[in-house]
Amino acid sequence: MQDRIPTYGIMMYSHSGEKNWRFIVKNIREMGLLTKAVHAGIDEYEFGAVVPPIYQTSTFKFENVQHGADLFSGQGDGYIYTRMRNPTVEAMENAVAVLEGGAHALGCASGMAAIHTVFASVLKAGDHVICSESVYGPTSTLLRTVMSNFGIENSMVDTSNTETVRAAVKSNTRMIFVETPANPTLMISDLAAIAEIAHANNADLVVDNTFMGPVMQRPFEHGADVVVHSLTKSLNGHADVVGGVVVVKDAERYPHFRKTLNQIGGVIDPFNSFLVHRGLKTLPLRVRAASANAMKIAEYLEKHPKVEWVRYPGLESHPQYDVGRRQMDGSGAMISFELAGGLEAGKTMMNNVHLSLLAVSLGGVESLIQHPASMTHATMGRELREQAKITDGLVRLSVGIENVEDILADLEQALDKC
Ligand SMILES: *Cc1c(COP(=O)(O)O)cnc(C)c1O
Repeated sequence: MQDRIPTYGIMMYSHSGEKNWRFIVKNIREMGLLTKAVHAGIDEYEFGAVVPPIYQTSTFKFENVQHGADLFSGQGDGYIYTRMRNPTVEAMENAVAVLEGGAHALGCASGMAAIHTVFASVLKAGDHVICSESVYGPTSTLLRTVMSNFGIENSMVDTSNTETVRAAVKSNTRMIFVETPANPTLMISDLAAIAEIAHANNADLVVDNTFMGPVMQRPFEHGADVVVHSLTKSLNGHADVVGGVVVVKDAERYPHFRKTLNQIGGVIDPFNSFLVHRGLKTLPLRVRAASANAMKIAEYLEKHPKVEWVRYPGLESHPQYDVGRRQMDGSGAMISFELAGGLEAGKTMMNNVHLSLLAVSLGGVESLIQHPASMTHATMGRELREQAKITDGLVRLSVGIENVEDILADLEQALDKC
C-alpha cells in the first residue's frame, strides 16, 4: 500500500486582457488561511465538478492482474479498498493537513478513534504516557482501562504547570499527551515548553487541538509531533457528523500511522468526509464569529452578580492568559463559569435556556450549554467531581454564531430565574 503524495497545488487563472488565460500554479501551503480553507484538498474532477465527488464505494476494480499486483506491492498509484484509501476521504485529509501545517492526515471514525490510532501507532507495552489530568473524559478512561490492559502506564498530571510535567518524566516516557485549553477547566498548557521536555526525553508531544482548531492554534508551530482532532466539533461545525483526524508532522512517520489505522480499522467513511470537507471551507469565518461572540459573553458573565467566576482564554483573569496569547491566534468559543447558587442554580439555568441548546458537544454553529454536575458527571458523586475540579455550579457554554444580543438575552432571562 502506497499513499499518493498529495499535490496540494491549486490552479488559478488570471485574465491577461487578451483572449488567452495565464496559468499560475502556486503551492496552497504558501497561501493565506482563508484560501487554504476554501481550496485545500481540492483537485481536478470529472465534468469540471468544483467539489470532490462522493466516491461511495467500498472497493475499486483493477484493470487486470498486473494492475492489481502493482497496487498491492505499492508500485502503482490507485485505489484498492476504502478502508485503505478513498478519494473523497483523501480530499478531506489533505485539506486538514494543509490547515494544520502537518505532512499528512488520517481520517478516523471519531475523535476517540483518532486518539486510539495515535496510542496504537506510537506506544507499546512497558511505555509510559504523561497526560493532562484535565482532559476529555473518554481519553483519560481509554488510558486507564484499554491501554493500561495492554501494559501502557500513565500519569495524569496538571500540564498547565510545566514543572509538574518535567517531574513526571520517567525513563520509559514515550508520549506527552496535552489538551489545551483543557476540557472543561480551560486551563492552558505551554506547548513549546512541554515539547522541549518531550524531545529531551525522546518522547512525542501529541496535542488534542479540538478546542481551538487550526485557525486559532497550530501546535506544530510550537513543537508538537502529532495533532488530533474530533472532527465532530468545529472542523465539521454543523452537528451532523461524528469523525476524527490524526495529523502527523513528519512525512517519514506517516506510513506507519496509516498501516496502524488500516489494521485497527477505525476509518471515516466517504459521505462524512464530504460533509467535513464542506464544513472546513467556512471554518475560519465560523470560529472567528463564535470567538467574537464568546468574548462579549465572557465579559458580560464576569460582571454578572449571579456568576462567581468566569474562565475564558480571552479574559485577563485567566491564570495562563499570557501563555494563551503566545500560542493562540484567538480565544475560542468555549466558556466555563461558576454559578453562585451551586447545583440548584445550575439546574434552574439549564431548565430555562431556550436559544442555547441543552446538549453536550461543542464548536458548532449553534450555542450549546451544559451543567456537568447535574448532567454528564452526575453519577460521579460530589467528592470525585471536586477532585476533578468540576464544581457544583460549573456551566460549560459552547458559543455559536447566532447574533450575540440574542444569546445574551437568553442567558440573562435564565440567570434571572436562578
Ligand atoms: C469530543 C472530543 C473528543 C472525542 O471526539 P469524538 O468525535 O466524540 O469521538 C476528544 N477530545 C476533545 C477535546 C473533544 O472535545
